[in-house]
Amino acid sequence: MRITAIKNAQIVLENGILWDGVLLLKDGKIEAFGKEREMEIPKEAEIIDAEGKYVGPGFVDIHVHAGGKYSTSFQPLEAANHFLRHGETTILATPFYDMNAEEMTRAMECIREAMGKTKVIKGIYAEGPYLNPNYGANTQTNPWRHGVHEEEYTKFVDAAGSLIKVWSIAPEVENLKPFLEYARKVNPDVKFALGHSEATPEEVRALGETYRPCIMTHIFNATGRKPVYGGTRGYGPDEYCLAQPDMYAELISDSGGVHVHADMQRMLLAAKGVDKIILITDSTEEAETPPQYAHIKDLNFDPYGGICGSKMTMDLACRNVMQSTNCGICQAFLMAAANPAKAVGMFDTIGSIAPGKNADLVFVDDKFNVEKVMLEGKIAVEKGELK
Ligand SMILES: [Zn+2]
Repeated sequence: MRITAIKNAQIVLENGILWDGVLLLKDGKIEAFGKEREMEIPKEAEIIDAEGKYVGPGFVDIHVHAGGKYSTSFQPLEAANHFLRHGETTILATPFYDMNAEEMTRAMECIREAMGKTKVIKGIYAEGPYLNPNYGANTQTNPWRHGVHEEEYTKFVDAAGSLIKVWSIAPEVENLKPFLEYARKVNPDVKFALGHSEATPEEVRALGETYRPCIMTHIFNATGRKPVYGGTRGYGPDEYCLAQPDMYAELISDSGGVHVHADMQRMLLAAKGVDKIILITDSTEEAETPPQYAHIKDLNFDPYGGICGSKMTMDLACRNVMQSTNCGICQAFLMAAANPAKAVGMFDTIGSIAPGKNADLVFVDDKFNVEKVMLEGKIAVEKGELK
């Protein structure tokens, strides 16, 4: 039996902060927490002094293509370690939508193998392939303009099995229904996300209740709007999401407000509420920045000058969202841990500090500088170094 007591911690709970808290961990799980003067610490416990830092649930990044130079599809272990250093104790590896069917199948096998070696990767977020090829980065080289074919999708859906937690889709893709049915048959718990699309709310609703998307893929990015009358504002997937109280919206909060302007981030917070926003990094493989964008440090660009994801990690995303909106540390943790865990059906084991959950913890200061990371009760990172 392994017991750890974390003392002198500002414990970030789902609904507030417990000042001067003590957190007890047992065998990799959270056992209990409380005020220091009220808690009894077992004599055999190993003591960790949090030195007054905030101790919150490890970050959950559900949409992430690469960490540094490492692709989450083909170098998933290296990528997972990159993110672990920044407090991400859960990621969903995200194959990029410009991969062809063979590459996707290979990526699934690679990720499956890595999951046997790291606890950080807990599945796959499939961004595509059935998206609208006119929206997103690298549209010029998108290999998915040839429609939906059963002999193709059965291969990569079968290769993924239950690993895929989310399929992002564009409802306007023709003949999509058989694919959705098959994906749901292979993994009954799979969630659908709405992304890279110009579907009208009516087209989204035509999917029916069974296949209704419950997550919006990076809201306000890679979406189109169809105007109905000249001079009126069109509507599309973003508007659909804003009008669905139970739908989650993924937000890329970069430091320059390039993906989503700070005013739009505040609007999103007002429209969706803090419980329905999921921070994502949408990190892609680090690429050269075109000279005209040299001042933007945390973004990546495709060879055509289009924005292509970010270089972010979740600690930075939290700092950015606090800078762009009026949210505080607790809310940033909700958006970076609890909400994503809920959206993908993992909240019973991760995403908040509660008895019985995995002791996945991140220690940060008030600017989200990561001091320490614990993974299932063990110190995984100390002052930026992997243990
Ligand atoms: Zn992406």
